[in-house]
Amino acid sequence: MRRHPVDITPLTFLDYPKKAACIFWYTGCNLRCPYCYNPELVLGRTKSQVDELAFLKERSGFLDAVVLSGGEITLTPQLKDICEDIKALGYLIKIDTNGSNPHIVRELVENKLIDYVAMDNKMPSDRTWRLPGGTPLFERFAESLSILKESGLPFEVRTTVHPGLLEESDIIRMIREANALSYTGTYYLQYFFNAGTTLGNMAPPTRRYDRDMLNRHAPLPIGYRNFPEDRGKG
Ligand code: SF4
Repeated sequence: MRRHPVDITPLTFLDYPKKAACIFWYTGCNLRCPYCYNPELVLGRTKSQVDELAFLKERSGFLDAVVLSGGEITLTPQLKDICEDIKALGYLIKIDTNGSNPHIVRELVENKLIDYVAMDNKMPSDRTWRLPGGTPLFERFAESLSILKESGLPFEVRTTVHPGLLEESDIIRMIREANALSYTGTYYLQYFFNAGTTLGNMAPPTRRYDRDMLNRHAPLPIGYRNFPEDRGKG
Protein backbone atom coordinates (compact mmCIF):
# COMPACT_ATOMS: atom_id res chain seq x y z
CA MET A 1 0.00 0.00 0.00
CA ARG A 2 1.19 3.49 -0.81
CA ARG A 3 2.90 5.12 2.19
CA HIS A 4 2.03 8.74 2.84
CA PRO A 5 4.11 11.17 4.89
CA VAL A 6 3.09 11.47 8.52
CA ASP A 7 3.70 15.19 8.56
CA ILE A 8 4.54 18.15 6.33
CA THR A 9 6.66 21.21 7.01
CA PRO A 10 4.82 23.58 4.70
CA LEU A 11 7.63 26.04 3.94
CA THR A 12 11.38 26.18 4.38
CA PHE A 13 14.09 28.26 2.74
CA LEU A 14 16.85 26.36 4.55
CA ASP A 15 16.49 22.78 3.40
CA TYR A 16 16.81 23.04 -0.38
CA PRO A 17 19.57 25.35 -1.65
CA LYS A 18 18.07 28.62 -2.96
CA LYS A 19 14.54 27.21 -3.29
CA ALA A 20 11.25 27.55 -1.47
CA ALA A 21 10.50 24.02 -0.37
CA CYS A 22 8.27 21.93 1.83
CA ILE A 23 9.39 18.83 3.72
CA PHE A 24 7.53 15.52 3.74
CA TRP A 25 8.33 13.41 6.79
CA TYR A 26 8.19 9.61 6.50
CA THR A 27 8.57 6.97 9.20
CA GLY A 28 11.12 4.18 9.64
CA CYS A 29 14.90 4.01 9.77
CA ASN A 30 17.57 1.29 9.73
CA LEU A 31 19.86 3.21 12.08
CA ARG A 32 19.52 4.39 15.66
CA CYS A 33 21.73 7.46 15.85
CA PRO A 34 21.88 8.51 19.51
CA TYR A 35 21.52 12.19 18.58
CA CYS A 36 18.44 11.64 16.38
CA TYR A 37 15.76 14.15 17.33
CA ASN A 38 13.01 12.30 15.46
CA PRO A 39 12.48 9.18 17.59
CA GLU A 40 8.75 9.11 16.88
CA LEU A 41 9.44 8.92 13.16
CA VAL A 42 12.32 6.47 13.42
CA LEU A 43 10.39 4.09 15.65
CA GLY A 44 7.23 4.43 13.55
CA ARG A 45 5.09 5.60 16.43
CA THR A 46 3.42 8.34 14.43
CA LYS A 47 0.45 6.91 12.59
CA SER A 48 -1.13 9.96 10.99
CA GLN A 49 -1.19 10.18 7.19
CA VAL A 50 -1.12 13.34 5.12
CA ASP A 51 -2.47 13.73 1.59
CA GLU A 52 0.76 15.04 0.12
CA LEU A 53 -0.42 15.38 -3.47
CA ALA A 54 -3.45 17.45 -2.48
CA PHE A 55 -1.07 19.67 -0.49
CA LEU A 56 1.19 20.13 -3.51
CA LYS A 57 -1.66 20.88 -5.87
CA GLU A 58 -2.79 23.69 -3.54
CA ARG A 59 0.75 25.14 -3.39
CA SER A 60 1.34 25.12 -7.15
CA GLY A 61 3.22 28.29 -8.12
CA PHE A 62 4.26 29.04 -4.52
CA LEU A 63 6.76 26.26 -3.88
CA ASP A 64 9.70 25.13 -6.03
CA ALA A 65 10.72 21.92 -4.37
CA VAL A 66 9.90 19.03 -2.09
CA VAL A 67 12.32 17.58 0.44
CA LEU A 68 11.70 13.91 1.22
CA SER A 69 12.97 13.19 4.71
CA GLY A 70 12.36 11.06 7.77
CA GLY A 71 13.38 8.62 9.08
CA GLU A 72 15.32 7.10 6.22
CA ILE A 73 13.53 7.93 3.01
CA THR A 74 15.11 5.15 0.93
CA LEU A 75 13.26 2.58 3.04
CA THR A 76 9.88 4.00 2.00
CA PRO A 77 8.00 1.51 -0.19
CA GLN A 78 7.14 2.73 -3.71
CA LEU A 79 9.48 5.69 -3.42
CA LYS A 80 9.88 5.75 -7.19
CA ASP A 81 6.11 6.11 -7.64
CA ILE A 82 5.99 8.82 -5.02
CA CYS A 83 8.73 10.77 -6.81
CA GLU A 84 7.04 10.30 -10.18
CA ASP A 85 3.81 11.77 -8.81
CA ILE A 86 5.64 14.76 -7.33
CA LYS A 87 7.61 15.32 -10.54
CA ALA A 88 4.39 15.17 -12.58
CA LEU A 89 3.24 18.21 -10.59
CA GLY A 90 6.38 20.10 -11.62
CA TYR A 91 8.39 20.13 -8.38
CA LEU A 92 12.09 19.63 -7.82
CA ILE A 93 12.91 16.82 -5.37
CA LYS A 94 15.63 16.58 -2.77
CA ILE A 95 16.18 13.50 -0.63
CA ASP A 96 17.84 13.36 2.78
CA THR A 97 19.49 9.97 3.18
CA ASN A 98 21.96 8.09 5.36
CA GLY A 99 23.38 6.48 2.22
CA SER A 100 22.56 2.94 3.28
CA ASN A 101 20.58 1.96 0.17
CA PRO A 102 22.67 2.72 -2.90
CA HIS A 103 20.40 0.64 -5.16
CA ILE A 104 17.50 2.99 -4.38
CA VAL A 105 19.67 6.05 -4.96
CA ARG A 106 20.70 4.54 -8.29
CA GLU A 107 17.08 3.84 -9.27
CA LEU A 108 16.06 7.42 -8.54
CA VAL A 109 19.09 8.84 -10.34
CA GLU A 110 18.63 6.65 -13.42
CA ASN A 111 14.98 7.62 -13.71
CA LYS A 112 15.81 11.32 -13.25
CA LEU A 113 13.52 11.55 -10.24
CA ILE A 114 15.74 13.54 -7.89
CA ASP A 115 17.46 16.89 -8.26
CA TYR A 116 19.50 17.23 -5.08
CA VAL A 117 20.73 14.86 -2.40
CA ALA A 118 21.96 15.49 1.14
CA MET A 119 23.79 12.40 2.33
CA ASP A 120 24.99 11.71 5.85
CA ASN A 121 28.39 10.35 6.70
CA LYS A 122 27.98 8.95 10.21
CA MET A 123 31.36 7.73 11.45
CA PRO A 124 34.94 7.19 10.29
CA SER A 125 35.30 3.91 8.38
CA ASP A 126 37.09 2.12 11.23
CA ARG A 127 34.29 2.95 13.68
CA THR A 128 31.42 2.65 11.25
CA TRP A 129 28.07 1.39 12.37
CA ARG A 130 26.64 -1.84 10.98
CA LEU A 131 23.32 -2.12 9.28
CA PRO A 132 20.77 -4.77 10.23
CA GLY A 133 22.28 -7.87 8.59
CA GLY A 134 25.83 -6.81 9.44
CA THR A 135 26.96 -4.79 6.40
CA PRO A 136 29.23 -1.93 7.44
CA LEU A 137 27.38 1.31 6.77
CA PHE A 138 30.54 2.89 5.36
CA GLU A 139 30.55 0.43 2.43
CA ARG A 140 27.06 1.52 1.45
CA PHE A 141 27.90 5.18 1.98
CA ALA A 142 30.90 4.82 -0.35
CA GLU A 143 28.76 3.15 -3.00
CA SER A 144 26.05 5.80 -2.78
CA LEU A 145 28.67 8.51 -3.01
CA SER A 146 30.14 6.93 -6.12
CA ILE A 147 26.67 6.79 -7.76
CA LEU A 148 26.03 10.44 -6.97
CA LYS A 149 29.44 11.48 -8.18
CA GLU A 150 28.94 9.68 -11.51
CA SER A 151 25.44 11.11 -11.90
CA GLY A 152 26.56 14.73 -12.05
CA LEU A 153 23.66 15.67 -9.72
CA PRO A 154 24.31 18.37 -7.15
CA PHE A 155 24.71 16.76 -3.75
CA GLU A 156 26.25 17.39 -0.36
CA VAL A 157 27.87 15.23 2.28
CA ARG A 158 27.21 16.15 5.88
CA THR A 159 27.80 14.92 9.39
CA THR A 160 25.93 15.64 12.58
CA VAL A 161 28.57 16.35 15.18
CA HIS A 162 28.58 16.14 18.97
CA PRO A 163 31.89 16.34 20.83
CA GLY A 164 30.84 13.35 22.93
CA LEU A 165 30.71 11.20 19.79
CA LEU A 166 33.22 12.67 17.39
CA GLU A 167 36.54 14.35 18.20
CA GLU A 168 38.16 16.82 15.81
CA SER A 169 40.53 14.05 14.64
CA ASP A 170 37.52 11.82 13.79
CA ILE A 171 35.91 14.60 11.77
CA ILE A 172 39.10 15.35 9.87
CA ARG A 173 39.45 11.64 9.08
CA MET A 174 35.87 11.50 7.81
CA ILE A 175 36.40 14.49 5.54
CA ARG A 176 39.62 12.94 4.24
CA GLU A 177 37.80 9.68 3.58
CA ALA A 178 35.01 11.42 1.67
CA ASN A 179 37.62 13.33 -0.32
CA ALA A 180 39.48 10.07 -1.07
CA LEU A 181 36.17 8.81 -2.50
CA SER A 182 36.28 11.79 -4.90
CA TYR A 183 33.94 14.09 -2.99
CA THR A 184 35.15 17.61 -3.73
CA GLY A 185 32.27 19.80 -2.51
CA THR A 186 31.76 21.63 0.75
CA TYR A 187 31.60 19.21 3.67
CA TYR A 188 28.81 20.26 6.04
CA LEU A 189 29.03 19.82 9.80
CA GLN A 190 25.70 20.08 11.56
CA TYR A 191 25.97 20.72 15.26
CA PHE A 192 23.91 18.46 17.52
CA PHE A 193 20.44 19.92 17.76
CA ASN A 194 19.05 19.51 21.24
CA ALA A 195 15.33 20.05 20.86
CA GLY A 196 14.28 17.71 23.64
CA THR A 197 14.24 13.94 23.48
CA THR A 198 16.76 12.17 21.28
CA LEU A 199 16.95 8.46 20.48
CA GLY A 200 19.95 7.95 22.75
CA ASN A 201 19.10 10.65 25.29
CA MET A 202 22.28 12.50 24.32
CA ALA A 203 23.45 14.96 26.93
CA PRO A 204 24.19 18.50 25.72
CA PRO A 205 27.78 19.02 24.51
CA THR A 206 30.15 20.16 27.24
CA ARG A 207 32.74 21.77 24.99
CA ARG A 208 33.05 23.52 21.66
CA TYR A 209 34.98 22.29 18.67
CA ASP A 210 38.33 23.76 17.70
CA ARG A 211 37.26 25.11 14.31
CA ASP A 212 40.72 26.48 13.53
CA MET A 213 42.07 22.96 13.77
CA LEU A 214 39.26 21.56 11.62
CA ASN A 215 39.76 24.22 8.95
CA ARG A 216 43.53 23.76 8.97
CA HIS A 217 43.57 20.00 8.53
CA ALA A 218 40.47 19.23 6.48
CA PRO A 219 41.15 18.80 2.76
CA LEU A 220 37.76 20.32 1.81
CA PRO A 221 35.96 23.55 2.68
CA ILE A 222 33.74 23.08 5.72
CA GLY A 223 30.24 24.51 6.02
CA TYR A 224 29.21 24.97 9.66
CA ARG A 225 25.54 24.70 10.51
CA ASN A 226 23.90 25.48 13.82
CA PHE A 227 27.18 25.93 15.68
CA PRO A 228 26.63 27.67 19.02
CA GLU A 229 29.25 30.33 18.30
CA ASP A 230 27.35 31.37 15.14
CA ARG A 231 23.88 31.57 16.61
CA GLY A 232 22.44 35.03 16.62
CA LYS A 233 24.74 36.15 13.78
CA GLY A 234 22.99 37.42 10.65
S1 SF4 B 1 19.47 10.71 12.40
FE1 SF4 B 1 18.68 9.97 10.43
S2 SF4 B 1 19.75 8.02 10.11
FE2 SF4 B 1 19.96 8.49 12.26
S3 SF4 B 1 18.25 7.46 13.30
FE3 SF4 B 1 17.58 9.56 12.85
S4 SF4 B 1 16.55 9.42 10.88
FE4 SF4 B 1 17.78 7.53 11.11
